[in-house]
Amino acid sequence: MLEKRLRFAPSPTGPLHIGGLRTALYNYVISKNQKGKFILRIEDTDLNRFDKKAEKHINDSLEWCGIIPDESPKDPGKFGPYRQSERKSIYNKHIKKLIENGKAYFAFDSTEVLDQARKEKEKKGETFIYNWENREKFQNSLSLDEGTYRKFLEEKKYVIRFKSYDKSFNNDSILIEDQIRGKIKVDLKLLDDKILFKNDGMPTYHLANVIDDHLMKISDVVRGEEWLPSLALHWQLYESFGWNKPNFAHLPLILKPTGKGKLSKRDGQKFGIPVYPISWSDNDITFEGFKEIGFEKEAFINFISMIGWNPGNEKEIFELDELINQFTIERIIKSGAKYDYEKAKWFNIEHIKKISDKILIDEVQGEIKERFEDIIDIKKIKNIIEIVRDRVIFRKDIINEIKIIIEYNLLDLKENISKINLSKDLIELLVLFKNEIKKNKSTQILKNFYTNKLSQKEIKFGDGMKALRLCISGKVSGADLFSQINFIKNEILIQRINNSLKTINDKNWNS
Ligand code: GLU
Repeated sequence: MLEKRLRFAPSPTGPLHIGGLRTALYNYVISKNQKGKFILRIEDTDLNRFDKKAEKHINDSLEWCGIIPDESPKDPGKFGPYRQSERKSIYNKHIKKLIENGKAYFAFDSTEVLDQARKEKEKKGETFIYNWENREKFQNSLSLDEGTYRKFLEEKKYVIRFKSYDKSFNNDSILIEDQIRGKIKVDLKLLDDKILFKNDGMPTYHLANVIDDHLMKISDVVRGEEWLPSLALHWQLYESFGWNKPNFAHLPLILKPTGKGKLSKRDGQKFGIPVYPISWSDNDITFEGFKEIGFEKEAFINFISMIGWNPGNEKEIFELDELINQFTIERIIKSGAKYDYEKAKWFNIEHIKKISDKILIDEVQGEIKERFEDIIDIKKIKNIIEIVRDRVIFRKDIINEIKIIIEYNLLDLKENISKINLSKDLIELLVLFKNEIKKNKSTQILKNFYTNKLSQKEIKFGDGMKALRLCISGKVSGADLFSQINFIKNEILIQRINNSLKTINDKNWNS
């Protein structure tokens, strides 16, 4: 069987956004699923839109995600070069073939002439198309006699256009096929004679893309839906060269968070959501990426993988290797898929749960010691991490969450006293509890003691817990109370209960 070779072929015209990253990811997992190769090709034929920082952004984004190409400009294989700007001689050779066999032709029309023709059509509410119906009226190697066009070739700037249809064709329609959308019938008479070579001597995307996919032995082209309208031209190009076609699959659009319209780079600012995997700086503005916001790369990949695909069951959490095993083109959805930032955060929470305690502890114990050693028992760091990891969206919030959990201040306490049902019995119990802490008992014993006393004294469980929490943190809600009691040092707990009871007892606290 032929080796599966899939490629990601971005144009370096700006930062890589999540749409591009999704295309790269799908190509990567499909190729790896088939034990094939994943290729990165830089499509830099559009000199006007070239951005020299873009290729690095593409490379760095893929690297962060662990989507590592087998062949790329940085790590070439035997099908290079992998930057289109370095392949000009290849395109020159191939376009000559198309001219020789009558599939393409030279066109000399100036921008002014074409603009004029466009305007005239628009005045009538129609769209200007340069094709079989009107190409005779323009200046090209099909309309001019040979002597004139050869002279023009010497003297004038020209482009090379593809002959999409003429009356000598056997058929006026073709059947093209997309793996997601099925067969599509295309009326050749409605197609434009697209430019294949520009007057700056560079091929257009269409020509370079088809030639490279063929020469790089690409087996499957998986790309964004915006390229579906170009598929008929690409199909015809393959046939004109007499080449076998790859399989095509066009991915559904990623929609704005509102679900209305295609997600654009500008939506990042508009909705206050990240649209790039890693940060991108433009002039003086820096747009934070998922990485800088604090997403786990596994969560980010998982989130992206599910925009437009699902496994057909309830499973939502995937690691990259599971995606490689389970991903199939058949389960890519046809309709647009919404970008839901809340869902991205949910994926992060889920992936944080999968990180081992050891990794998290190694990462934060230095800082925990430095900042909180006076308050917490460092030996119980594992218990702290267990509580805190379920309460954060991002790993970088762990330290702050610990701070919130162990914090105690009298202002909170004063504000919250009125929210608590504090009977004389309950206050007495708090004093008893404090004395139990002094005996260095385990948290479980302290918990049993407290809850038993609550029922003996017929104090409502909720009131009892709230009062204890209030004395220990000044707050009325928060993380599991006895877990906090477990890792806060005994002398601190005693001190806090004393201070709290004093404040509570102070009749004048409110004045
Ligand atoms: N250079 C094109 C892009 O940036 C590639 C499209 C394709 O994959 O054929 O979207």
